[in-house]
Amino acid sequence: MRIGIVGLPNVGKSTLFNALTGAGAEASNYPFCTIDPNTGVVAVPDERLEALASIVKPERVVPPFVEFVDIAGLVKGASRGEGLGNQFLSHIRNVDAVVHVVRCFTDNNVSHVYGSINPVRDAEVIQLELALADLEMVERRLARLEKLIKTGEPRYREEKIILEKLKTGLNQGRPAIEILDPEEQDVLKDVALLTVKPLIYAANVAEEDLPEGEGNSRVEEIREKAAAEGREVIVLCAQLEAEIAELDEEERNSFLLDFGLRESGLNKLIKAAFRLLGLVTFFTTDGPEVKAWTVPFGTKAPRAAGKIHSDFERGFIRAEVIPWQDLVRCKSFAAAREQGLVRLEGKDYVVQEGDVIHFRFHV
Ligand code: GDP
Repeated sequence: MRIGIVGLPNVGKSTLFNALTGAGAEASNYPFCTIDPNTGVVAVPDERLEALASIVKPERVVPPFVEFVDIAGLVKGASRGEGLGNQFLSHIRNVDAVVHVVRCFTDNNVSHVYGSINPVRDAEVIQLELALADLEMVERRLARLEKLIKTGEPRYREEKIILEKLKTGLNQGRPAIEILDPEEQDVLKDVALLTVKPLIYAANVAEEDLPEGEGNSRVEEIREKAAAEGREVIVLCAQLEAEIAELDEEERNSFLLDFGLRESGLNKLIKAAFRLLGLVTFFTTDGPEVKAWTVPFGTKAPRAAGKIHSDFERGFIRAEVIPWQDLVRCKSFAAAREQGLVRLEGKDYVVQEGDVIHFRFHV
């Protein structure tokens, strides 16, 4: 999964990105790779994995990973190639979801491109650029369709109708994800739209506005905007996250408590992204590894097995399934089987959040 971080300059994107990718302990235990300076791979924190590891005592614990991309350079006019322009828009085309950072903190030492703190206005500037970039894609596709329609293929007519609808909506400043239903989005899946990406707002607040930004009217404003769009807002303080990322686990917990936080903003953000993308996590405990896997909501057992190895999908016989809490309580698969807590599921079984699965397959 790839998540792009966008926002105006000086809102705290890089600070957040560095905190995410530098978030020490968990990530550094795993093969951690930095693909380029603006991309980092982060281990997704998951307390269930630790609980499973404590009973299975595997050689390795493998969490899911998320790739974060810091998409700097988005400014007013970017869609016309201003600032670093189009080059950056192309990075957004490759992500699964977008975190839109808005500045809700006041700090006279940190300048703002428009001289005042107004997250709703800032978000609209970015949204407009993305919508304009999409409009350009739509215009280009419509021009190409004129020729294709002459072939008499009905799907090109259908596509044209959807594109016209999209164009009208984009011109009103609405994002593609809101204008098009999922089937229409599917028809246009090769058009590489930006505003079709699922999006979460990250409201970057001052330390004193933690945990939820109550009392900061700017957070309220961005919340209202997000609610109208059906989107989630995660409140965090990027600067504090950067400090938390430097700490070891024990220090981190007491630090969080001092600020009245149950978990770090980064954790909240990553979990929200998982929810947004409709991902389900299941676990395997075979061999030397306890490992977390992510699949889209609604995935059936054979497809889930295929994530592990294509042979598993082809030769799928059955899945032995147990909720992770039950396995942790029983302390072993054998004990859980004796207690009748391990279910045998067939090829139509839909994988559930938190399942531990042992696949049986022909070789
Ligand atoms: P970007 O341009 O959006 O990537 O912004 P940066 O992450 O480079 O941050 C711009 C400036 O704002 C830097 O000087 C940061 O130290 C500062 N900054 C970032 N987050 C916070 C915050 O939560 N509070 C305060 N006071 N300053 C912050």
